[in-house]
Amino acid sequence: MMHSKETTADQEAAPGWCHWHDGPSGTALLIDVIGEDSGPAFSRYACKPCREQRGLQPEGAQP
Ligand SMILES: [Zn+2]
Repeated sequence: MMHSKETTADQEAAPGWCHWHDGPSGTALLIDVIGEDSGPAFSRYACKPCREQRGLQPEGAQP
């Protein structure tokens, strides 16, 4: 049974998941996309605290 309460467009802009601390987040941004020859690309998101701690730059950020 499908039960959707949010649009996919909003979820794409704010995935709500951090792959660095492996948990939910309201500040996660796209960091990079890992392309695999034998599989689909995997997008990695990091939340604000993880970006600051690890010095991560969001995808497309201007220097
Ligand atoms: Zn995080």
